[in-house]
Amino acid sequence: MLYHSTRNSSDPVGSKEAILKGLCADGGLFLSDDIVGAEFDMRSLMDKSYEEIALSVFSKLLSDYSEEELKDCISKAYAGKFETDELTPVTELGKYYLLELYHGPTSAFKDMALCMLPQLMSKALNGRRVMILTATSGDTGKAALAGFQDAENIGITVFYPHQKVSDIQYLQMATQEGGNVNVAAVKGNFDDCQTGVKKIFAEYTKEIDDKYGITLSSANSINVGRLVPQVIYYIEAYKQLVKRGVIKYGDKIDFVVPTGNFGDILAGYYAKALGLPVRKLIVASNENKVLTDFFETGVYDKNREFVKTISPSMDILVSSNLERMLYYASGCDADYVAGLMESLSTNGRFEVTKEVLDKLREIFGYGYATNEESKEAIRKAYEKDGRLIDPHTAVGYKVADDLNDGTPTVILSTASPFKFAEDVYKALFGEIEGAEGDGFRYMDELSARTGEKAPKPLAELRSKEIRHRAVVDKEKMSDFVFDSLSCLK
Ligand SMILES: *Cc1c(COP(=O)(O)O)cnc(C)c1O
Repeated sequence: MLYHSTRNSSDPVGSKEAILKGLCADGGLFLSDDIVGAEFDMRSLMDKSYEEIALSVFSKLLSDYSEEELKDCISKAYAGKFETDELTPVTELGKYYLLELYHGPTSAFKDMALCMLPQLMSKALNGRRVMILTATSGDTGKAALAGFQDAENIGITVFYPHQKVSDIQYLQMATQEGGNVNVAAVKGNFDDCQTGVKKIFAEYTKEIDDKYGITLSSANSINVGRLVPQVIYYIEAYKQLVKRGVIKYGDKIDFVVPTGNFGDILAGYYAKALGLPVRKLIVASNENKVLTDFFETGVYDKNREFVKTISPSMDILVSSNLERMLYYASGCDADYVAGLMESLSTNGRFEVTKEVLDKLREIFGYGYATNEESKEAIRKAYEKDGRLIDPHTAVGYKVADDLNDGTPTVILSTASPFKFAEDVYKALFGEIEGAEGDGFRYMDELSARTGEKAPKPLAELRSKEIRHRAVVDKEKMSDFVFDSLSCLK
């Protein structure tokens, strides 16, 4: 299976090269035409383990890796890193099923892919050394650090906005262990971090390659190596429902996905393309409902106010991975996609044809939840269903209630409620006086009031040693990267 740009179908590369590069030179995203309609024996996976499903999916989609390489990646990616026996348990929430994706090292769903990406990348190196550069508003940085910790011949440098992440997020990054990890706070906001990282890629990629023989790369959610590992748990969830007798093989189900960058739900489309019996994939947005409006009208318009919500990992106005879906929905028309993206970059908006919109609506349902509705969903889950859910999952719960017609429905649960303890606690029990911004106090109180235990990796943060204290001016980010390269010597 070969990968080429969403904006140009020529010069395809293998999946190893696509994973190492991350982004295409023309700004497009790597994808493969062969995924849609690919021959794949889905039914035979229904009595397989998570790891065996992973091997089947990877063998199909990442076909330039040998079976031996893939087996090695899979055995190293998850072992010993999850708190539960099953990597992704399926539990009940009222009449729905929750696919719990938050039992990994950082208590959020990005672990599912970021445990695997370093393994896939290390097999693609072919003698090269790589420095991963990541700007983070809080969550991705930690998941990437944990994933790449002590990866051989790969270093990682993470920049986050100084004093603009939560105390828990700060400690998650500042205490990160590993001989190859570098973390710096930037005097500025998240945009400054992201702009700084983009500038370093543009200005220093060649110099760093020429002088040090090190390739700069990124770990963000458009990387094929993050997308493909997310396909597995859709199949795993379906398998668990078949096993329990909730459905029989072939019955179509819905998946509701709390969506930001459209990566998670796109993996659901890949699972469906490989033959998983899915009726609708439902895009659940928060108040930054640019996707809801798009599916409603066919116009994608990012010219709008950015809303800070209690589901911050979905506070996104440009859903990068949608570009891949536009490619498939247009019948693999790279010129068409290039035109839309040109319009997005010059006018901040684009409009798709009725044909493309109809195609998208065949596959996807859509809806959104306001902040207030998310809090109500947290309360309903707790008081009516006896379940503690996080604010991102709550968006999914509300949208599921809006759209459900009796079809068996799986809601993807993307974070531990304890990762967002303050907002979850406040939604359930109100404020604690004098505890504003004290994430650990809220974590403790949430635990005390509900009788549920916080995940170990979060609870243990308080006693961990601070290892990273660098605070840099935004103009000095490149100096920090050059200093960091020494971890690869
Ligand atoms: C990243 C994230 C999402 C959104 O996933 P996308 O792939 O960006 O759509 C939802 N919930 C949580 C907790 C996340 O960290």
